[in-house]
Amino acid sequence: MPHEAYASAWRFRAFADTTSQPAQLRCPACPDFQGGRVLDQQEFVAHVHGCTRIPSGQNRTKAARVLNKRIVTIVEDSASPDATAEHEPRGYQHYECSKCKFSSTWGGDVKREVADHDKRCSSKLYRSGVDIELVLEKLRYLVDTTIAHLVCESWYRASIATAVNSKIAKKYHHYVEELRLVSAEEFVAAVAHSTGGLDKSFHDLLGKIGRATGLEYADLVEDVRHTVMWGVGASIAAAFRCTMRRRGG
Ligand SMILES: [Zn+2]
Ligand SMILES: [Zn+2]
Repeated sequence: MPHEAYASAWRFRAFADTTSQPAQLRCPACPDFQGGRVLDQQEFVAHVHGCTRIPSGQNRTKAARVLNKRIVTIVEDSASPDATAEHEPRGYQHYECSKCKFSSTWGGDVKREVADHDKRCSSKLYRSGVDIELVLEKLRYLVDTTIAHLVCESWYRASIATAVNSKIAKKYHHYVEELRLVSAEEFVAAVAHSTGGLDKSFHDLLGKIGRATGLEYADLVEDVRHTVMWGVGASIAAAFRCTMRRRGG
């Protein structure tokens, strides 16, 4: 973990400011956030670590990707015959076009549907879908991970349980059509908190990965938490960098 990201992650968890950055800032990607008023460092950090628009290639979206790839790598590196993992499994992606309203069908011939769309429409498709397909001890799991940014203003007044349940409900709502095609046990909505916690489904999933790979459950928890922390810290560090560039610093 680069020093800058590591330091940012720890400051974030300790609610500590840094004197090496300006005391008052604006998100480099959303200058109108909160009516465009300047934010103090705590407000800035709470916003930017969950902002998908930070234009540095290192933002919330990247952090989620890093987490998913890490889980796949852990399973692959174990070389266990009882565990396989695939990042963004092909059959479980959904494509949508905002221009012609094309929408692919899960479980259908997605590749052909997308090719047909691209022949008749030039607009770029928006893709969403299952993050990871795992086969553990012959049982299959379709995993969708979320990094919940619970220090964002919208969650200030909610308990963690309320916030996490709302994230999970949103996932089930998102996949409501698709879930009719698979059994209830197959779909896992796993939530990690940007402050380092993991929800029950994440812990359950890591328990299953541990049993199938022979890896220690405690090590898996630590590994995942470390990866989330890296992603969050890297997003914050990138946001500070963008802000400094904008100021010509
Ligand atoms: Zn922003
Ligand atoms: Zn289209």
